Amino acid sequence: MSDCIFCKIADKKVPARIIYEDEDALAFEDINPQAPVHALIIPKRHIANTLDITEDDNHIVGHLIQIANRIASDKGIAERGFRLVINCNPEAGQTVYHLHIHLLGGRIMHWPPG
Ligand code: AMP
Ligand code: ZN
Repeated sequence: MSDCIFCKIADKKVPARIIYEDEDALAFEDINPQAPVHALIIPKRHIANTLDITEDDNHIVGHLIQIANRIASDKGIAERGFRLVINCNPEAGQTVYHLHIHLLGGRIMHWPPG
């Protein structure tokens, strides 16, 4: 999608601090980190949010979680604990309409979330 910031990052038209990349997925540092570790894991293909995930996307969604697990291990937070968040639509706080998983860790997380 031409006006989507995460599509532009995936196309390397906008810079980002990339942590991991393969044919189908990308992970990069969040520009406004909410924890010592705050990465975003996205499919390269534009999917607006979880409501647009179809049966055909099941593989990529599982793949994104595998990537998040790997980054958590690489950053040394897997055993301590981390949080994966997907915001969907305005009341959840979604601001970028390209599916992304937040990987948050490196500090104690509170529950319920704000
Ligand atoms: P959400 O509110 O769940 O849609 O999350 C969007 C996230 O994208 C926020 O945490 C932003 O800080 C982050 N973000 C927005 N633009 C960029 C960018 N250009 N590079 C990295 N992270 C970004
Ligand atoms: Zn997009």
